This record gives sequence, C-alpha cells and structure tokens, in this order.
Amino acid sequence: MTIYIFRLVLILILLLAGCSTGTQKANLPNCINSDCDCSDFATQEEAQRVLDAFPDDRYKLDGDGNGLACERLPRQNKSTNKEREVNTGNVHLKYGNPSNANSKDLNNYLLEKPQYALSYNCKTGTANWVSWQLNRSWLGRVDRSDDFRPDPDLPNDCYAVRPNDYRGSGYDRGHLAPSGDRTKTQSDNSATFLMSNMIPQSPANNREVWRELEEYSRELVSQGKELYIVAGGEGKEGAIADNQVTVPKYTWKVILVSDKSGNIEETIAVRMPNNDTVARTDWTDYIVSVDEIEKKTGYDFFDALDKDIQRKIETKTYKSP
Ligand code: MN
Ligand code: MN
Repeated sequence: MTIYIFRLVLILILLLAGCSTGTQKANLPNCINSDCDCSDFATQEEAQRVLDAFPDDRYKLDGDGNGLACERLPRQNKSTNKEREVNTGNVHLKYGNPSNANSKDLNNYLLEKPQYALSYNCKTGTANWVSWQLNRSWLGRVDRSDDFRPDPDLPNDCYAVRPNDYRGSGYDRGHLAPSGDRTKTQSDNSATFLMSNMIPQSPANNREVWRELEEYSRELVSQGKELYIVAGGEGKEGAIADNQVTVPKYTWKVILVSDKSGNIEETIAVRMPNNDTVARTDWTDYIVSVDEIEKKTGYDFFDALDKDIQRKIETKTYKSP
C-alpha cells in the first residue's frame, strides 16, 4: 500500500514540475518570441535552458540530436572575478599597458589571451583597446574561421555581447585585432572572432580605410618588420543592442615599428571617423601623432620605454611611402 502512495506522490511532483515550466519560460531570452539560434546565447547553459523548455527543438539548437544545445558555446561563464596578477611577460603588452587595465575595474578589465591582450569596458560593451604583436610567426594560411561568439572569459557581472547584438544595426562586427593577423593556426584565428574583439564599425571604415591599414601592416611584416599594435574606438556616436554596445565616433590605431633585431624605428598612428565620410579616401589621410591619440583617449602608449624615447617617437607623424 505504502508503495502506491509513494508512486502517487511521485506523479503529483512530476505534474507540478510540468506546470512550472510555464513560469520558467519567463526567464528565457527574448529570442524565443521570434527565432533563436546559437548566436543568441552567451553560454551552452543558456541555450540548454531553451532546449529544455522546448523539447521539440523548434529553434534547431540541437543539430546532432544528442539532447545538448549549441555544444560549441562555452559551458558557463567562468568566474574571473578573483584578483589575478598581470602577466608582465605578456608579449602583447611588451611596450606597456596603455590604461593600466587590471582585474578589478569592470570598465578597464584586463583580459590576456595567447593571441592578444585587451582592456574591456563592461559599460560600453567593447574593448577600450586591444594590443597585439605582429610578426611573421603569426602569419600562415588558415582560412577565416568566422565563428563570432561571446567571450567566455568576461566576469559574470559583465554583459557578454552576442554576435546577434549587431544584427540590423547597420554596423559591421569590426575586428580590432584583425583575423588576417592571426592565420598560423585555426585556434589563433578563431580567437579573433570573440565579440570582445569587436566594435560596431561603419562599413566604409571597416571595409576600406581600416582594412587598407591592416594590409599595409602585414606588408611591413613581409619586409621583415615587427609591429606592436594597439587599436580601439573613441567617443560615442550612438548605441546599439538596447544600449548595451556603444558605437564609437572614431576608430584609432597606433603601431610601433621595429626592425628584425627589435630596434625601434618609428610609429604610425591614425584616427578615422566611424562613418561614411571615409568612403573613397586613403588611410594615410588620417595619420596623426601618437601624442594626439594619447590626448584624445587619455591612455599612455609605450610607457615601458624611456620618456625621451617616447617623446621622440610619439611627436612625429608617419611619412607614408
Ligand atoms: Mn575588419
Ligand atoms: Mn606614451
């Protein structure tokens, strides 16, 4: 007899659990009202909640039918809130950390990846700057991986921008560290597609002048130069994704050029409007001094170098060939 009561209670519990999925749906992402795909989620956990709520898999999140949704997404946000030491040996920060990015300030939050380092700003939903070394050792023949995805290394209390957040905004998901600068291995290339490396970039800027300077940089590398590049956005043109991502007014880049043996030769700095006005212009039209970018952004570039060397290379403007 007791076994029947037990079973009855069990059935009741299951029925109650079934009813409660109605309230669970309230906590699901908005995409369930239109159409979800894997780029609507920051983590596998988040996608799984949607699949669990709709076991018919109406959003096709479980391509291989194994019951797990969006398996390519990171499992869950890592808690990176604990204090970390800045890796002083980081090759991408060899000439300095322009804003003293650290592991405490959510609007100047240091992320160090094997492929680049960056200062993230949780308020603007973009990096303040991304910094990377470029020489022949990073260049090979792998294809663009095109796997735009949220950055799993952001702290939990920071909104992780999703690839679809840029959808319909009129802005490109513009790389700061370019895909073309990381072509040695597939995983290096894939790392450039993290959304923390993206800014909303006007198509004319991204696809023309900005791209042309990226190509010119790789041309210098093919001549045997080694570059240390820092890039970011400045100012506010507007916002997208329910105000979670700031559209910068300008894009800027500073490049330290050294020869094969690491002797510093010169710098290249540009500041370009993030709008249509750059269409059919030349990247060289936007050359300024590093000092100018320091003034506009408040960052100090190359501060690992002596002040007098900084003065020498930061006041001059680059003479393009
Ligand atoms: Mn680009
Ligand atoms: Mn400086």
